[in-house]
Amino acid sequence: MSTPLSSSYRDPLQTPIQYVKGVGPILSSLLERKGIRTVEEALYFLPRTYEDRRHLKKVSELKPGERQSGLGEVRSCGLVYYSNSKRRIFEVVVGDETGEVRLKWFRGNERSLFYRFRKGTKLLFTGETRWFNHQKVMIHPDVEVIGEEGEKDFLHFKRIVPIYSETEGLPQRTLRRILRNVLDRYASHLSSPIPADILRRQKLIDFREAFERVHFPPDEEPMEALLQHRSEGHRRIVFDELFFLQLGLALKKKDRELETGISFKGNGNLTERFLSHLPFRLTRAQERVFQEIREDMERPTPMNRLIQGDVGSGKTIVAFMACLVALECGYQASVMAPTEVLAEQHWRTLRPWAELLGMRIELLTGSIKGMEKESLYESVRRGAIDLLIGTHALIQEAVEFHRLGLAVIDEQHKFGVLQRAMLRKKGVNPDILVMTATPIPRTLAMTVYGDLDLSILDEMPPGRKPVETRYYPDSSRPRVYEIVREEIRKGRQAFFVCPLVEESEKLDLKDATKMAEHLQREAFPEVRVGLLHGRMGSEEKESVMKAFQEGQIQILVSTTVIEVGVDVPNASVMVVEHAERFGLSQLHQLRGRIGRGEHPSTCLLLTPHGISKEARARLRALVKTQDGFRIAEEDLTLRGPGEFWGTRQSGFPDLRAVHLVRDTPLLIEARKEAFRLVSEDPDLSNSDHRGLREAVTRKWKGGLELVSVA
Ligand code: ADP
Ligand code: MG
Repeated sequence: MSTPLSSSYRDPLQTPIQYVKGVGPILSSLLERKGIRTVEEALYFLPRTYEDRRHLKKVSELKPGERQSGLGEVRSCGLVYYSNSKRRIFEVVVGDETGEVRLKWFRGNERSLFYRFRKGTKLLFTGETRWFNHQKVMIHPDVEVIGEEGEKDFLHFKRIVPIYSETEGLPQRTLRRILRNVLDRYASHLSSPIPADILRRQKLIDFREAFERVHFPPDEEPMEALLQHRSEGHRRIVFDELFFLQLGLALKKKDRELETGISFKGNGNLTERFLSHLPFRLTRAQERVFQEIREDMERPTPMNRLIQGDVGSGKTIVAFMACLVALECGYQASVMAPTEVLAEQHWRTLRPWAELLGMRIELLTGSIKGMEKESLYESVRRGAIDLLIGTHALIQEAVEFHRLGLAVIDEQHKFGVLQRAMLRKKGVNPDILVMTATPIPRTLAMTVYGDLDLSILDEMPPGRKPVETRYYPDSSRPRVYEIVREEIRKGRQAFFVCPLVEESEKLDLKDATKMAEHLQREAFPEVRVGLLHGRMGSEEKESVMKAFQEGQIQILVSTTVIEVGVDVPNASVMVVEHAERFGLSQLHQLRGRIGRGEHPSTCLLLTPHGISKEARARLRALVKTQDGFRIAEEDLTLRGPGEFWGTRQSGFPDLRAVHLVRDTPLLIEARKEAFRLVSEDPDLSNSDHRGLREAVTRKWKGGLELVSVA
């Protein structure tokens, strides 16, 4: 036998799944499709759900309307043609000493069903019983064939049974048997170095036992908790992942606090002069957040702060004031935005203020080329520019700052962790301020940004009107145009947002170019219609935006390039074409472009006929609430964190068992414990914490570039 013994792997949990008893090359290639290559990955392949097969029913005990499991013998099976329907139905009659029940399938590969259900086969079935023609019937039940060996091990019935996510060639019974073998052979190697006092405080069970109980729950396990993935076993496994995530974040944070940064101690003149010119008062939230930032900046350790605030909460001004603090102390500052449109927008907003205060401000984007670019680089290097606004062009190798003191990153989620690190390299530990307009659900913020300090702008500037949101089928298009026309008649302006630039052949999507033509020629010949999309050159974009801002254009048709930051207070109506194609948070961002002036605003969501029920439910959520945080939570629940914006960022430990919405309470606990531990033992040098240190480094796979932790 060439199968290596598990002990030949340094960590037995890393043994390739192929070497587990009963697996072999064919099954292992199927398992790989499920992301299972090692024993450890198999252990983390948690059941999708469970079925209560503790008490198998006799046929006579099956109650119509209830989902139950029973065991019987195949009496007959075959295709049945019913006279009133053209369909062939595959039927299996199963019986025991108390009666018979008919299992029916309306589709499926009949040939394979024939093979599986020969007369006399013992069959375990689970489903909802119905009465039909005075007979007990189950439609599309889950069935398992009980073989001779199956009756011995009690893996598949007379217990709470795990149901895994299936793949062709990997039926439940096979998965269960593999997991049973893996647990028997390798569970003893599972360990988690979380200190005993934390386990006690959090009432957590033994780590090894947790895996046993999650895969093969004992009879007394509460069914309800299992189904919700909140059993004691689940809690222990989830806590473990969250704890090591938070421990890494806590260490990163601690580590940076030990670095030396710049202590900005200005006299506050610049910000005061700015405020004296500002035509409005800061909101209390803006004042509070600015105060938090100023205190951070005064401290000799580098600032790492995230400002979170819904669209329109006034983040830009707060960020600009932070720049002024740096400038006042003789440093440079930069503001980095995710798109050219947004960078240009910031530049247009901030330039008059900077110039009024005697500061030199410039814009750097990818479309600035040649001599112009070189001379801009040169000025930045000499320190002839105080405030540099730009896109990711800012973090190119060639950009060197004279004395970068503060880097503001707008809409951080579009950048990711790596770019943050690149920016940090541009200065001697500059302060970093991240702004995000997409409200991040608390849980996600505590994972992706868990090493940042958080400031929340939870107050809107006064006079902000909520945006009324309505949703129309495409057949109501004339009505929608009427609403737009009315607004334009009142002197307002309108956005039309389309999902794509060019017409796609497959989907009947209204592309922006076509839409603009249609609106100009047919629907609104009396006004000027402009077009803005990502493929346009930046000068062209700039001039369209300017024309819209100055009111020379009444209707702006665009793609989602306007999603962030575009600020035209006179625009009071937005039409979103194919609203069903956008994410909820994205739609919320989009509608944040209106309702920025004194006028009541309306967002009209158009959808084609026959969109799914789920799509309608999503849009209704948007109609109901203005609260960006609630919408983001909803989005996270509906789409999952991966799609939301990838917690699978490089340099993060895997979260295999965690569900960020469901596990919020546990996340908060794990964070509390991890941060407390790091505050007591900042570099985990306590001899009791040696295992922790090794585990956290391994789980972060090099993502923990700590200076003080070896
Ligand atoms: P955000 O970036 O958070 O979406 P902005 O900073 O772009 O919001 O501000 C949105 C609009 O509100 C801008 O027109 C800005 O001038 C205005 N604004 C900001 N703060 C206040 C305030 N305290 N009072 C009145 N208007 C404000
Ligand atoms: Mg903004």
